[in-house]
Amino acid sequence: MNGGIAERYRSVAERVARAAERSGRAPSDVVLLAVGKTFAAESVIEAVRAGCRDLGENYVQEARVKRAEVERLLAPTSAVRWHFIGRLQRNKARVAVELFDLVHSLDSEALADALDRAAAAGSRVVECLVEINLGGESTKGGIAPDRLGDFLRSVADRSSLHVRGLMAIPPPEADPSVARLRFRRLRELRDRHADLPLPGGGLKELSMGMSADYEAAIEEGATIVRVGRAIFGPRG
Ligand SMILES: *Cc1c(COP(=O)(O)O)cnc(C)c1O
Repeated sequence: MNGGIAERYRSVAERVARAAERSGRAPSDVVLLAVGKTFAAESVIEAVRAGCRDLGENYVQEARVKRAEVERLLAPTSAVRWHFIGRLQRNKARVAVELFDLVHSLDSEALADALDRAAAAGSRVVECLVEINLGGESTKGGIAPDRLGDFLRSVADRSSLHVRGLMAIPPPEADPSVARLRFRRLRELRDRHADLPLPGGGLKELSMGMSADYEAAIEEGATIVRVGRAIFGPRG
């Protein structure tokens, strides 16, 4: 893991572009999200200076402090989009709506309610992805694949909440072909529900793939990959 953050960011971005082309898409069709959890604002800024326009964070409080710091050191940062990819507690919904452009981890009706109400109170819309629990792991959040249709119908009348797609954090797989199958299942799940009438225009995004497997995820249709260590180095 030598070389700087800027160099690693550019090298990952290059691989993302090539994988997009292999999947018959333009590089601009795939968003490279730099996941900065545990890394300081200065590190995140290095990625932004190298061309990164999408930042991902797992903890609301950490993101709040970091975003303020990034905006102080790097004005204007209006071009940067902030994504929330961690588990969101309902009592943080209001702060999350203020801080983030896209919440990747919508995983319950109660959270949908809290986000919708917080967004409506601020006269705005909150954009979300539904987190899917692909592996049936009881320790993880996420909606079971066979509940997705019901879930989407139950949140469709929240007019300040726009569901844009799906997200998954599959368990680490030693066998790359198993990881690939999971990505494919998420894409098929999205395709099956793509026509449901939803306030945000329906399911489009697929947030899947991390440092170990983002190229495979793109080949299977990812529109957003979430990459931490391959850009910032090992977490402490
Ligand atoms: C930390 C994290 C990532 C990035 O993982 P790396 O292995 O560092 O690329 C992606 N998605 C989620 C939800 C994470 O928590």
